[in-house]
Amino acid sequence: MLIVHKYGGTSVGSLERIENVTTRVAKAKKEGNDIVVVVSAMSGETNKLIDYANHFSSNPSKREMDMLLSSGERVTASLLAIALQEQGVPAIAMTGRQAGIMTDNNHTYARIETIDPRAMQKELDEGKVIIVAGFQGINESGSVTTLGRGGSDLSAVAIAGALNADACEIYSDVDGIYTTDPRIEPKAKKMDFISYDEMLELASLGAKVLQNRSVELAKKLNVKMVAKSSFSDAEGTVIGEETEDMEAVLVSGIALDRNQARVTIREVSDKPGIAAEVFSKLAKNNVNVDMIIQNASTTDGTTNLGFTVPASELDQAKSVIEAFDHDIGGMDLDDSVCKVSVVGVGMKSHAGVAATAFCALAEENINIEMISTSEIKVSMIIAEKYAELAVRTLHASYDLDK
Ligand code: ADP
Ligand code: ASP
Ligand code: MG
Repeated sequence: MLIVHKYGGTSVGSLERIENVTTRVAKAKKEGNDIVVVVSAMSGETNKLIDYANHFSSNPSKREMDMLLSSGERVTASLLAIALQEQGVPAIAMTGRQAGIMTDNNHTYARIETIDPRAMQKELDEGKVIIVAGFQGINESGSVTTLGRGGSDLSAVAIAGALNADACEIYSDVDGIYTTDPRIEPKAKKMDFISYDEMLELASLGAKVLQNRSVELAKKLNVKMVAKSSFSDAEGTVIGEETEDMEAVLVSGIALDRNQARVTIREVSDKPGIAAEVFSKLAKNNVNVDMIIQNASTTDGTTNLGFTVPASELDQAKSVIEAFDHDIGGMDLDDSVCKVSVVGVGMKSHAGVAATAFCALAEENINIEMISTSEIKVSMIIAEKYAELAVRTLHASYDLDK
């Protein structure tokens, strides 16, 4: 079997933990498997490098940021290769480029375009364990690019696809996918299986256990993902294609995204073209708008227009709106909000799922500021101070702790 292992920051967070990974990889290799390992930077390392850059500039060049940030993963990859060799396991560390990973030019959030697996295949044929520095590739002009935060998961899935691996095992400090973040709700239950679509929603809505783009790619390439712990031998959770009996399960999980902010534009002229102009300008300035709410018009012919953006893009949104010189009265900003979401494929065929969520939050006196729904999710914006209470309340209201 050919298996891709991916070890996240916590799993390689110290020399002792890299030692632990060495033992696990050596064991998997001895069992007769071909192994490609993808590693993250040691935990905290990427943030430390970002702080270093911010010491010199509040707006550093994205190309240089990619040069800088890609170094964290290289440290881990080479240390792991050295440790494996010391145990008599033939191993070779590779950068993203050496592993053949080509991306587009979108520095700090690049998309993988192609992977040329020949260099990796050659080393595998020679019996070596390959350790690839995650989170990185190169663009057509040869500059290093990175794949967005949490991007080593994406490297691992893309490599598993390119090498036609039997599985892509993502190792972290939790032993699988739970009905919600077990750090917030200790009663959360581990799932044996979750569909790509549900996992993609959970990940996109804040459950950072897997990076959302990695799940999307796994679905597209039909890569079997398994979420496992690097600290235990527990079974883990398989992420795969939805099966027919799954619609029997109404709700599979609750996600929380704290990285949200709300903008309200006051006294917006209620006439055609204003929303178009506001949201086109935001898009042009790379502000990702999520939920939108527009109130009914007041007697003076104006309305309020509210929307949410990632908290990290609030300053950018503010400058765009400030530059608006007509048809709006003013704006309010609030970065103390969060988004809680209920996810489940069973919602497709059952009524009342959203109402259960609204009632549960109402009983705790938690005000819902905005709502959005899709076929398999209900998301609500609430005050951030209620985040954990809301997650636990929703979790219980669908009996996920039973
Ligand atoms: P790594 O650093 O290895 O990439 P992450 O920190 O990105 O690991 O992801 C693991 C964390 O994801 C866990 O510690 C857990 O708190 C969090 N998490 C959030 N939602 C869930 C969930 N539904 N199931 C399991 N873990 C979750
Ligand atoms: N080191 C990068 C990050 O912290 C990528 C990853 O860990 O997957 O976001
Ligand atoms: Mg992660």
